[in-house]
Amino acid sequence: MIKIVQHAHIHFNEQGTPVAERFDDVYFSNEGGLAETDYVFLKHNDLPQRWQHHPAAFFHIAETGFGTGSNFLLAWLRFRQHRQQHPTANCQRLYFTSFEKFPLSRADLSKALAAVSEFTALAQQLLAQYPLATPGCHRLVFDQGAVILDLWLGDVLDTLPERNPSVAVDAWFLDGFAPSKNPDMWQPALFAQLARHSRAGTTVATFTAAGVVKRGLLEAGFTVSKVKGFGRKREMLTAVYTKAHATQQTDQLLQQPADEVTIIGGGIAAVCLSLVLLQKGAKVRLLCADAELGQGASKNRQGALYPNLHAEMSSASLIQASCFDFARQFFSLSKQKFEFPLEWCGVMHQACTTQLQKRLSKMSACWPADLVQRLSAKHASEKAGLALPFDAIWYPSAGWLSPQQFCRTAASYLATQPNMIIQYHWPIKQLEVLSDGWRLHSSKHPPLDTKTVVLALGHQSNELLHENPLPLRGIRGQVSYVQAGPLAALKTVLCHKGYITPAWQGLQAIGATFDRSRSSDEWLASDDEANLALVQHSLQQPAWMSSVRIIESRAGVRATVPDHLPLYGSWQLTDKHCQVLTGFGARGLLFAPWLAEALASDLMQEPSPLPLSWQQLVAASRYQE
Ligand code: FAD
Ligand code: SAM
Repeated sequence: MIKIVQHAHIHFNEQGTPVAERFDDVYFSNEGGLAETDYVFLKHNDLPQRWQHHPAAFFHIAETGFGTGSNFLLAWLRFRQHRQQHPTANCQRLYFTSFEKFPLSRADLSKALAAVSEFTALAQQLLAQYPLATPGCHRLVFDQGAVILDLWLGDVLDTLPERNPSVAVDAWFLDGFAPSKNPDMWQPALFAQLARHSRAGTTVATFTAAGVVKRGLLEAGFTVSKVKGFGRKREMLTAVYTKAHATQQTDQLLQQPADEVTIIGGGIAAVCLSLVLLQKGAKVRLLCADAELGQGASKNRQGALYPNLHAEMSSASLIQASCFDFARQFFSLSKQKFEFPLEWCGVMHQACTTQLQKRLSKMSACWPADLVQRLSAKHASEKAGLALPFDAIWYPSAGWLSPQQFCRTAASYLATQPNMIIQYHWPIKQLEVLSDGWRLHSSKHPPLDTKTVVLALGHQSNELLHENPLPLRGIRGQVSYVQAGPLAALKTVLCHKGYITPAWQGLQAIGATFDRSRSSDEWLASDDEANLALVQHSLQQPAWMSSVRIIESRAGVRATVPDHLPLYGSWQLTDKHCQVLTGFGARGLLFAPWLAEALASDLMQEPSPLPLSWQQLVAASRYQE
């Protein structure tokens, strides 16, 4: 059963310190939160000194209880200082994983952080990306990927077992209110999980010296010491994981990070993966069959970006909610590097079927209002700028972007990156298995050898997988671009059984056909007619469609999967695995950034943002078990 995430209820005491009403305890000491974090959590994990000599490219802190995010913000600030002072140290990136059962609302977080002037600028960035209160892992990326925050919302006793333990924690910040005030959290199960996610040498620091914590850590295999506590507190605990943690060490020895990755593709999937791999320090080669990127299904002028949520919090819906949060952040940050049209104008779904009407009446009860709301037909018409017949599902923070422009301008940006090679007109015809990698054959060029290959060819992926094809089906779709009279007043993306976008460069997209009998991308006049007819039929012959004129059209082929979830990760071919990133169906803009991030994290042996149970739902290997 998935548990809804509830916000914290807080007030501020006379000293201005935030207090959690459920626990009747302060978020940090009245005597100075920052000094306490520096002393308890950083100093007693031997930070920042440890970063100077850390052998890996990243350091991984994990924390119980995100609260106001002060511990995170201070660790980020200190890590920035470390990078400035030690630019040649191996460790240049920080992963901070935090588990929070009752996240502060954005308004409370803003108020709590306003009092701490030391990190106003960082706090603004955190607030800008602060996630929706939905269960699961929300990955936030700062400082061009140098600092990554994984915020797991839900009870740590439920969420920590869901984290993939193959990449260990280096230092624990064991926070989470006094054991006397929060006995439910300080359980043997928590300590066992801390051990499961630790390796020999992992350190722990905690503000408390309570016997239950000391005994719990000892029993889980940590060596524990009592030291002087912060301020007036007499004692606190530090610990080191000492027990041989066999599986962890073996995993890390067996799998080396991929330092060089070859991607075959050229659409949204390949571009997103290239961007995130570069951020993690990999060398990337992209082989594209076409003369430029964004020529396959990703060649649309405009595409809608929103999660398609069920009435209940199903895992499939939660995956979409997390993908949506990540995609919003990913495209907004990408726009700081290269230009492409992107508008967070909201997406409205007209409840034009009985099924949608039923869903509408249930869904606003379980999803946060900043993600999805219900609108009356009157309100919907006002928001959209057009008279509309039905009540609507409203995604206020959703919008549209241009996939083709994104791919094109990303190509120019990628071309300037020292670790990136893009080779055009390079159709791969065959994969040959080598003992230590792959040989990629093309009819036009000499073969290329690579250790790691990712197939991101959309619906054409199976052209390289004759023996073990992916469960993909190509479904043709055509979008019609119209020059509109009254329709030009549209202010949001408007979904019915199809969708209409607001104007960009004088054209609006009306899409899209779904033709299961064809997987070709030629233009068809009948598809244009079908697009216009669908609007007329779904939205009761609206007057604003009267003078719509089709100017151009684009057809493409979606790569769809029987269970409507994407395909990511290892795919077995004979005795070897290649990697795949495809199967996005009609939701490439939603799925590609997050799954690219997850795949890049796996390939680089870095912490995964995917809860284990979600990973099973999107891993391509689910079709090979
Ligand atoms: P593609 O974009 O298809 O890229 C595949 C790439 O592989 C191409 O660049 C091609 O050159 C390359 N390639 C193929 N074969 C080879 C080879 N042998 N060697 C080397 N390279 C090769 N999604 C949304 O999120 N919102 C929408 O509103 C939306 N609307 C859509 C409307 C239509 C009509 C269609 C068809 C799709 C729509 N989608 C939408 C879905 C979205 O466009 C796709 O999910 C997404 O573009 C898929 O990207 P991709 O990179 O996986 O594949
Ligand atoms: N580290 C925080 C900071 O920097 O502001 C302060 C943490 S506060 C003292 C303790 C936090 O633990 C609260 O935000 C509380 O909601 C959270 N918490 C309590 N029990 C929890 C549980 N079982 N799982 C996850 N978080 C929990």
